[in-house]
Amino acid sequence: MAQHFIPVSAPALVGNERKYVLDCLDSGWISSNGKYIELFESGFREFCGVEHSISCTNGTVALHVALLGLNVQPGDEILVPSLTFVATANAVTYCGAKPVFIDSEPETWNIDPKAIASQVTPRTRGIIVVHLYGHPADMDAIFAVARKHNLFVIEDAAEAHGATYKGKRVGGIGQVGTFSFYGNKIVTTGEGGMIVTNDSALAAKMRQLKGQGMDLQRRYWFPVIGYNYRMTNVAAAIGVAQMEKAEWHMERRHEIARWYREELQSVEGISFQAEKNWATHAHWMFTILVEKPAMDRDQLMSRMLERGIETRPGFYPMHMLPPYAVQNQDYPTATRLGLRSISLPTWAGLSREDVRYIAACLRECLEG
Ligand SMILES: *Cc1c(COP(=O)(O)O)cnc(C)c1O
Repeated sequence: MAQHFIPVSAPALVGNERKYVLDCLDSGWISSNGKYIELFESGFREFCGVEHSISCTNGTVALHVALLGLNVQPGDEILVPSLTFVATANAVTYCGAKPVFIDSEPETWNIDPKAIASQVTPRTRGIIVVHLYGHPADMDAIFAVARKHNLFVIEDAAEAHGATYKGKRVGGIGQVGTFSFYGNKIVTTGEGGMIVTNDSALAAKMRQLKGQGMDLQRRYWFPVIGYNYRMTNVAAAIGVAQMEKAEWHMERRHEIARWYREELQSVEGISFQAEKNWATHAHWMFTILVEKPAMDRDQLMSRMLERGIETRPGFYPMHMLPPYAVQNQDYPTATRLGLRSISLPTWAGLSREDVRYIAACLRECLEG
């Protein structure tokens, strides 16, 4: 029997979350209007250093609206990393467009800029980069290809709140950035999302699309078909409380990653996602690669679970999933990373003692 159970993730609701949610209930402002929506949007805008921020229902629809905002049409091709959460590819499919998968770069685990050019066709419209597990993609190298082929760049920053690329916070680097506030993300609203951009015309178009297509100046006039992708004031209230402590949430993850590295640096048979000197990793999930050839990844995870430690497997690369199965194309790095990686518990409430225990168990399980 395990002494205690350590989940892979848990939200830290240690600020004014309860107070602000009760304020919504007491005041009756529980739907998608209210002061917390505006406060959350403006706070997040400031946090990212961008001009426009649009709250929405979740990180998946944030991507959908970003793609529609950039005029993605049926038949278009959008380049996305094979190694990502399925939402990145699904949002492309919602537009009737086709996600075209790109292999990963072995150090940062992100979309490999060198693999992009060979996948560009006359139908290619843009690239979605994903800052996987919180490590920024190599944006300059991506912009170089994007400019050459006249492609837009969307940042899927769902896992990377507060990460920086060459000193700049992610989200505001590409034409559009999207965030998720799902319960296991660095900042949460339960379910929630945000779209950020510095382009005013694009921001207005996206705001209209997420609000049923209603004209922003003329109520109940619908010049286009939009969606109900609105966030509630209750979710935003949680978000405002989370953002008041954003620096703390970020610092906790940095500290936990430091502890893991200290504990695990001399352990043989595993390696880590790199942290490049041009980046600050947001450490959404501290993820290790199981290099030891004889070790079965899933068996390692069950051994950890026997000791009360929940872990999670890396993402199955998109090219392996039934709706997206790709034949005659090789994604060796994405495949290796996806099938051989494990995320260790990473959440703000973990203690030094927890990390020491997790590391000790991992060492033991790797030996067996
Ligand atoms: C979580 C996540 C999303 C989707 O966010 P939801 O809020 O769950 O819809 C999109 N992309 C990536 C990379 C994610 O990790």
